[in-house]
Amino acid sequence: MKISKILKKKRTLSFEVFPPKKYDEEIVKLYETINALKQYNPDFISVTCGANGSNRKNNTEIAGYIKEKGIEPLAHLTGGPSTEEDILNAIKSLKEKNIENVLALRGDKPVDYEAEYCKTFKHATDLMDYINKNSDLSFAGACYPEGHSECDSLKEDLIHMKEKQDAGAEFFITQIFYDNEYYYRLVSEARKVGITKPIIPGVMPLIFPSSIKRTKEMCGLTIPLEYRNMLEYYKDNPKVFKEIGINYAVYQIMDLIAKGAPGIHIYIMNNSKTAEEIYKRLEHVFKELF
Ligand code: FAD
Repeated sequence: MKISKILKKKRTLSFEVFPPKKYDEEIVKLYETINALKQYNPDFISVTCGANGSNRKNNTEIAGYIKEKGIEPLAHLTGGPSTEEDILNAIKSLKEKNIENVLALRGDKPVDYEAEYCKTFKHATDLMDYINKNSDLSFAGACYPEGHSECDSLKEDLIHMKEKQDAGAEFFITQIFYDNEYYYRLVSEARKVGITKPIIPGVMPLIFPSSIKRTKEMCGLTIPLEYRNMLEYYKDNPKVFKEIGINYAVYQIMDLIAKGAPGIHIYIMNNSKTAEEIYKRLEHVFKELF
């Protein structure tokens, strides 16, 4: 089923997984994670695709597995490293597995990537146009509550977000954020420029002390001072640190729902325990309001 159709009827709960690096050794574990996620009745599970395109096949395999388990998959597809033939092959494999939903992205050029990046598909919208011409896949786009790192202003970023909607993006999923105000600002500014499609917030609990630095360096994200102080204070106590991270994510989710978010997308880093921890704290919220 098209995820955009589900969004018209209800608030969605979704999770994101990624193809493991050591695919052959770790895929069984990921399949166990997907099976464990089923008990939380997710509306969809998304599967990332490597920025260098190398794991496109694994991405499709995992999306196919999710579909077999009776959950709607959202397969990520990166245009940056792809040729037209790569995308046609990906579309063919997705269709063979009855996968209807794709998150169409540009991707980021990996440091060790030697070939020309974005040779065929310069931006996500170029990939979206191509998907439109060559398939009936339904697709979503990415968006950035704190603005995309390459963009000079949120205003310009919003122009490109609107172009994604005009190219046919049926909904959006956000980059992670730790200050909900950035999400509310994005939604409010997006509505002013005519972006009407649902914008699903992406939430990722910080559960390992090492992830604070990585999150800030990789995505340039703002972590509110009070929360940062707390993480800093408990950084040598992994169990407490994890608890704080889960509780903060729960707080973010409760606030997002109270202010009308159309769904919640949880980046679980292939760890079903993360989903479990969040779900058990919010069971009634998910059962009654989703
Ligand atoms: P674009 O929409 O092309 O935007 C990239 C930059 O170009 C932005 O600054 C934008 O404002 C600007 N821009 C867009 N269109 C134009 C235009 N016409 N002219 C000039 N400038 C323009 N990466 C992966 O490799 N694999 C994944 O699975 C993956 N999943 C993601 C999931 C989510 C929910 C999000 C938010 C990101 C994900 N990413 C993933 C990261 C993403 O690929 C990077 O953030 C990338 O830098 C931008 O991708 P995009 O699709 O937003 O690109």
